[in-house]
Amino acid sequence: MIVDKHQSPESIRELLGEVLDRAAWFLESLPERRVTAASGADDLARALGEALPRRGKPASEVLAQLDEIGSQGTVASAGPRYFGFVTGGAVPAALAANWIAAAWDQNAFSEVSSPISAAVESIALRWVLELLGLPETSGAAFVTGATMANFAALAAARRSVLLAHGCDVDRTGLHRAPEITLVAGEQAHATVFKVFGMLGLGREQVIWVPADGQGRMRADALPKFAGPAIVCTQVGNVNSGAFDPVGAICDAVKQEDVWVHVDGAFGLWARASRKFGAPAEGIERADSWATDAHKWLNVPYDSGLAIVRDADALRSAMSLEAAYLPERGGREPFDYTPESSRRARGLEVWAAIASLGRDGVADLVERCCRHAQRFAEGLRGAGCEVLNDVVLNQVLVCFGDDRTTSEVIRRVQRDGTCWCGGTRWGGRTAMHISVSSWATTSDDIERSLAAILGIVRGVRGECG
Ligand SMILES: *Cc1c(COP(=O)(O)O)cnc(C)c1O
Repeated sequence: MIVDKHQSPESIRELLGEVLDRAAWFLESLPERRVTAASGADDLARALGEALPRRGKPASEVLAQLDEIGSQGTVASAGPRYFGFVTGGAVPAALAANWIAAAWDQNAFSEVSSPISAAVESIALRWVLELLGLPETSGAAFVTGATMANFAALAAARRSVLLAHGCDVDRTGLHRAPEITLVAGEQAHATVFKVFGMLGLGREQVIWVPADGQGRMRADALPKFAGPAIVCTQVGNVNSGAFDPVGAICDAVKQEDVWVHVDGAFGLWARASRKFGAPAEGIERADSWATDAHKWLNVPYDSGLAIVRDADALRSAMSLEAAYLPERGGREPFDYTPESSRRARGLEVWAAIASLGRDGVADLVERCCRHAQRFAEGLRGAGCEVLNDVVLNQVLVCFGDDRTTSEVIRRVQRDGTCWCGGTRWGGRTAMHISVSSWATTSDDIERSLAAILGIVRGVRGECG
């Protein structure tokens, strides 16, 4: 194949025109599309998995093949009735920014490699800090998601609590470092423990703080601290949506060598709303915060932020030196991120906030919370048992014993009107509903409720 031919301006324009048609068709089909994928991974792999091609083929053929086979294997999670895990869609401005960013193909690692990315990251960061009410001098990294945000923030934490004991862990490692006491709530997110492992602190070295019935870490049950320690709190329990009492925990922890971290993957965005942000009061007193942009801010994957009050701690943990690196001028993105070369994901964060504005972000959060309340009300009204206080955008519901609930979940997923996952809560199987998409309307909630309740009646009829 002659590559040049396919890179001529005409064919690029033609190719992108085809992308536009195919993508628009997909997006327009979302509201009525079955939420569950039509094909499974094995079938797709068979359909696409011919032998390694010796010769390539035109890009438009590659695109057609990918779209015609591949779109059968998509979950309509960008659509309005996907309530699985905690999943945002993509607001139009963020999707648009993602497309132009892909065309620009910027390397966001440095101001030299992309002035626009560096500039937009700085603005987006300032806006995020203001929206979330976090200290404006915080340092931050634009990372792939809350897992890596937890990683970057906790690397800064590790550095800082050990430095208080004269150990520069980033230089000398953990070999002669004092042991760090790790504290987390019973209900802390699984990624926190993975991060402890990645940081050489061990997944299982944790002091568990008991949680209350909503999954909130009990501030009165913290251990006594002696020596370096990291306390991982959570704002937005992935099941119940509940917030740990971070303010009270910060008040209880005064030692220089104890660091309070907040995993606020989605819950942190409640701070954009006066109404739903109240339980997150006091979290600005913590030392670091991890959050996602691809959940509640509704930007495309993959996007999260690690925010650290002591910008130097994050910079010292993450920066690197090499002869080819530029002289530092302003904020150099590579000083803060675990990655070096990376895509310009700050553009989408900027675009989402630019298009929504402060009021629009608050409205998005409040709309999702109101939808969750309507879900709970509709389910309770039909005699289903809602297990959590619906304080945010998450609902946990049981339909009887574990077997019945599992069967309802299975049928809801197969039906495809909407998609909800399963979880365990208080020793029981529950269906988990998370309303996190900008695209969800009141009609979508009513339609989903009707589908779920129809299935519940069917299952009860069979079981009863
Ligand atoms: C989703 C989530 C994570 C992990 O986020 P990723 O974006 O998947 O890396 C961590 N903590 C909490 C509380 C979450 O909800």
